[in-house]
Amino acid sequence: MREPMLSVEEARERVLSVFQPLPAERVDILAAVGRVLASDVYAADSLPPHANSAMDGYAVRAEETARAAPGSPPRFRIVGDLPAGAAPRQEVTPGTAIRIMTGAPLPPGADAVVKVEDTQQEHGYVHVFVPVEPGNYVRPAGEDVPAGTLALERGTALRPQEIGMLAALGHSRVPVSRKPRVAILATGDELISVDEPLTPGKIRNSNSYSNAAQVIQYGGEPVLLGIARDTTAALTARLRAGLQEDVDLVLTSGGVSVGDFDLVKDVLASEGDIDFWRVRMKPGKPLAFGHLRTTPSQGSRARPVPVLGLPGNPVSVMVSFEIFVRPVLLKLQGARDWERPPLEATLMDAIPPKDDRRHFLRVRLIWQAGEYRAYLTGAQGSGVLSSMVKANALAIIPEDWDHAPAGARVRVIRLD
Ligand code: AMP
Ligand code: MG
Repeated sequence: MREPMLSVEEARERVLSVFQPLPAERVDILAAVGRVLASDVYAADSLPPHANSAMDGYAVRAEETARAAPGSPPRFRIVGDLPAGAAPRQEVTPGTAIRIMTGAPLPPGADAVVKVEDTQQEHGYVHVFVPVEPGNYVRPAGEDVPAGTLALERGTALRPQEIGMLAALGHSRVPVSRKPRVAILATGDELISVDEPLTPGKIRNSNSYSNAAQVIQYGGEPVLLGIARDTTAALTARLRAGLQEDVDLVLTSGGVSVGDFDLVKDVLASEGDIDFWRVRMKPGKPLAFGHLRTTPSQGSRARPVPVLGLPGNPVSVMVSFEIFVRPVLLKLQGARDWERPPLEATLMDAIPPKDDRRHFLRVRLIWQAGEYRAYLTGAQGSGVLSSMVKANALAIIPEDWDHAPAGARVRVIRLD
């Protein structure tokens, strides 16, 4: 029986449907960079906590400056000095002013600040040359975030600005979703590890590392399970060992085509359950998805562990990761959205006649002449890693295009 051919969206929906957001943990504020906030954060205090001056100048009663002009500046007795960080001790009473620095709290009685450039100081008095309105150069309490309001929503990926907000609101520890743990297993009799010398017929295992790097890039924690030889026994043993690692997901690469040594499907079928699909995409057509059974003795969580069997070719495995595993990692971390922001570019190279799959082409995306332009980075074979190295984006050629002329407008996925 031929495996069903699924659209990218169908396959992704089926994969995503088995994952739920992971529980939260509290981490140090700087360890939270790039992670996803696990609870809503409400402001306990207003930000800023007190009305304060936006300028160096003089705190005054605005109405007393109403008739101020360069030729007839009203005069105020300076009754105090408020540097940033000081708490006001005097009041601004009629006919007086208090010298105030940026960030210092507005003293009682004052309702505006005259900036120092609009004044002249003389013998304990200040002359004010321009009128100010109530509220001028005053930052009200809670102008940024009023006390009690929602400052940051759960599911927000924490960038430097969110980290700053957390600090401003007094959070030195932050609730974030636990990092997804992802086991990574390479399969193939031809594979040797990175630091072994090359011998005839062998190639180095690169997939485990490109996938592990992708796991790290998208906020997970990779657990490398090494290389399984192309025997049922070896594959079974490695996968069982992986289950001891308390992982949220197992990735394999290779061994999911229809060759004699493509054993991932068979082993998954006997160790759990398996769906095998062809996905209407290139690269990355074969995709196995299933679960490994666990027993109570295996790890702390006796529940089936999802397994994604990715293709073996070094580019296919990375593209399949981008399309299927990245959204899983984001969903596990409680992110609200895993769609890439839509981006369109002009394809600068013609694409020869193609089949009815969605093609993902390695391109260099450049801003040129007021638009994004996408240039192919070289040979597009599934095993050509160097064109992936040169690429900063994937250009998407839809299923129903039988070719693409140079100049076509296409959607692109940025990789950087
Ligand atoms: P397979 O689907 O197992 O036949 O693998 C497809 C192609 O990818 C073959 O040329 C393999 O040698 C290659 N390949 C499989 N696994 C890896 C790996 N971990 N690192 C580099 N290349 C691999
Ligand atoms: Mg193989």
